Order: sequence, then structure tokens, then C-alpha cells
Amino acid sequence: MDKYSNESISIVIIILSLLLIVPSYSQSEIDSLKQLEYKEISVQFVSSALKERKGYEALKNLCRIGPRLSGSRNSLIAINWAKNKMIELGFDSVWLQPVMVPHWERGTIQKAMIMNSKKFNGTELNILTLGGSIGTPTEGIAANVIEVKSFDELEKRKDEVNGKIIFFSRAIDQTLLNTFSGYGSAVDQRIYGAIEGAKYGAVGVIVRSVTTKYDNVPHTGVMLYVDSLPKIPGVTVGYEDADLLSAALKEDPNLQLALQLNCETLPDAKSYNVIGEIRGSEYPDEIIVIGAHLDSWDVGDGAHDDGAGCMQAIEVVDLFKRLNIKPKRTIRVVLFINEENGSRGAKEYGVYAQSSEQIHLAAIESDRGAFSPVGFNVDTDSTKLIEKIESWMPYLKLAGISWVRKGGSGADISKIKNAKLLIGYIPDDQRYFDIHHSPSDVFEEIHPREFELGTAAMAILVYLLSEEGI
Ligand SMILES: [Zn+2]
Repeated sequence: MDKYSNESISIVIIILSLLLIVPSYSQSEIDSLKQLEYKEISVQFVSSALKERKGYEALKNLCRIGPRLSGSRNSLIAINWAKNKMIELGFDSVWLQPVMVPHWERGTIQKAMIMNSKKFNGTELNILTLGGSIGTPTEGIAANVIEVKSFDELEKRKDEVNGKIIFFSRAIDQTLLNTFSGYGSAVDQRIYGAIEGAKYGAVGVIVRSVTTKYDNVPHTGVMLYVDSLPKIPGVTVGYEDADLLSAALKEDPNLQLALQLNCETLPDAKSYNVIGEIRGSEYPDEIIVIGAHLDSWDVGDGAHDDGAGCMQAIEVVDLFKRLNIKPKRTIRVVLFINEENGSRGAKEYGVYAQSSEQIHLAAIESDRGAFSPVGFNVDTDSTKLIEKIESWMPYLKLAGISWVRKGGSGADISKIKNAKLLIGYIPDDQRYFDIHHSPSDVFEEIHPREFELGTAAMAILVYLLSEEGI
């Protein structure tokens, strides 16, 4: 028995010695290995995006379809194209989520001309009908014009308004650093101008384009009506022609403006959100959404707004695939329809998310143009969560991200009420409103490196969310 005991003791000693020479890692060593891996993968995302430019190339093809207003034939072509793109790239599943959307058509006639003026008679203004506007009678309308800069001024001069066209001429506040704040300082005139005007008997509105650029390109966008007031037509005028109209009115306050529009609202049309995902290897029921909107206004190509966001979202998934990185959690691309004039797609997905058994861990949205990455807005009250995302700055900065802070996320993903975390991708905004909602929003305005850095920034964020959860 002693002999066996001695043998057993020897074996135990050998095993113990072996254990001593097999490397074992402390927690801090494991952490630094993980950091090395995170860094390596982040660098790969950035270099692959910048070198291969696959999202940028895909955007070129999407833009070739042309503008994609909800309800239009083009929007259905784009939906089909995006679905096939995801299938071609090998997403695990791709599907269409049906939703009814508004169907407004601009028509072929949108004319504004100065009349009954000695100096400016017959001058045509460069206009676009506002989205959702009613048309004019076939022969058009003609009326005197009253120029105001605000709803307050309109209210003060309400006795002068009856039977006239209101010219809302307040420009964007160019003194603000953030152009989204600048946009917010003027866009009320476009959205609510026809409602405010109708209160006092106006017959139409013409609104200075909400733009940061001094040129004569009109910028469209949505306008609203209420059922309790008459609906009056609304147009937007290029910045230079807005100045011209203003000067003409000073010279000749009795001039008339003739408006002729043949736009119309048709019955709601069937449309779809395009959804595709790659399933997580460890937590497939935890979903990270990357969202953008596939519809655009019906002028330009909707390149920055928001074709770019859609192609960045698709390329994030493609980056995982081409670098052979298996996400632990499911990454789902949602291309929402109808952000521009109703958000029906976002609402539909929000309802679906609410009823789903799956956990919507996080949703990220890119809908501020494809300019150089600046930061991520994190829409949460939890300081802990913001700090967690902020702790990933060593990786995010590899794609040019400078900050992570509390802030609004995005119009579409904000409808996913049960998402644990909503994040908005924030690129540089100085040039966005030069082209937003205008014929200038075309593929040529997209810079490939700026676009691809945005893709890489989101890929890094999605990767870290997928690895670590929240
Ligand atoms: Zn947009």
C-alpha cells in the first residue's frame, strides 16, 4: 500500500509542477488581451471600409434608381433592390414588413410668377411645391402678398391677411454652430405656415427655403394641415429668389403672385420596411438594430438623406461577414420607409418590437448625412450606460469619433420604445443643410472616405455592443 501511496504522491507532484508551467492569466491580463483584440478588430473595420468602399459603391447603385418618395414606383424598386442586396451579401434572413404609407405626387406643374408689377412683371421664381400640399385650380391662383418673419408677426398683422398669399421669409439662423439648431430656428414656417395662414384667411403660402447655402436651389419638405381649417397650397422658394421677392415687395407692395400647382394626394399605398440580420452566436435573441430610412424626398437622389445611412447600415453587417467576425448578438438592419412624411415605417416596426419576445438591446441610427464622424449621441438617463459607451473611446476614435454624450438618437429608432439603448450617429453637420431635401442631394455630394469612416465607426460600436452587451 505504501508503494502505491508513494506513486500517487509522485503523480500529484508531477501534475502540480505541470500546472505551474502552464500559463494561467490574471483578470487584468485577460482584460488587456481583450483590449488588444478589440483594437485589432477596430483597425480592421476602418482599413477594410476605407480600402474596399463597398457601401459607397452600393450607394452609387441605389442613387441610380432616383428619388424614393413613399408610395412612388421608385420607392418600390429601391425596396426590392435593398432586399436583394442583403440576400446577395449573405444575410442570415431578409424580409419585408408591410405598411401602408401616404402617397403624394408633385405632378408636372409648379409655377410661381410675379404679376401686376412695373419692374418685376413676369418674373418667375424658382420654387418647389411643399410635400403634402394641395394643388391649385387648373388656371392657378393669383393674390397680393404679405411678407412676415414669424407667426407672432402674422398674428399682429392678421387683419391684413385675408385673401392674400403669405410669404414667410425668415432665414436659418446662421450664427449657430450646430446647423440642426439653425434648421430648427426656421423650419416651423415650412411645416405649420399653411395652418397659421389659413387661420386668418390666407389663400396660399410661399416659404424661404430652409438652407444654409446662399444659392437659388429650393429645398422641399413636409407641410401639415389640420381638418378644422381650409387647406391652402404651399411652396418653397430658393434663397436668392426669396430675396428678390422681398425686394420686389418693398418696391411694389401691391404686386401679385400667381401660383399654379398640379400636385395631388392619392389613396395610401402599400409599402415595406426592409429588414435583414445576421444571427448572434451566443445570444441570438438579443438584437442590435442599425436603422436608417430608405424613402427620400422626390428631388435629387436622397444620397445623404438617407441613402447613405441605409448603405452604411448594410455595410456594417457586410464588414462582419468579410472579416469573418461572428457577432455574439444578432445584428439587424432596418431600412424604414416613410420617415419624411409620416414615419409610418418606424411606427410599424415599433409596434412589432413591442410585441416581440426578442430583446431589443440597442438601436443605432444614421440620418444626418454621410459626413466625417464626430460623435455618438446616447439617449438614456443612465450615466452608467453613457460611461460604458464612453469607455470604448480608445476604439471609436480609430474611426474619427471624438465624443460620446447624452443626446437625441433619431426619428425612426425613437419609435422602438422598448429598446434598452438608443444611439444617434453624429457626423459633421456644416454642409448637410446646403443640400438637404433639395435637387442637390445627389451621389456626387458623397465623399467616399467620410462615408466609409462613418460605416467603420458604427461597425466598431456595434461590435463592442455585441461582445459586451449592456
Ligand atoms: Zn432623413
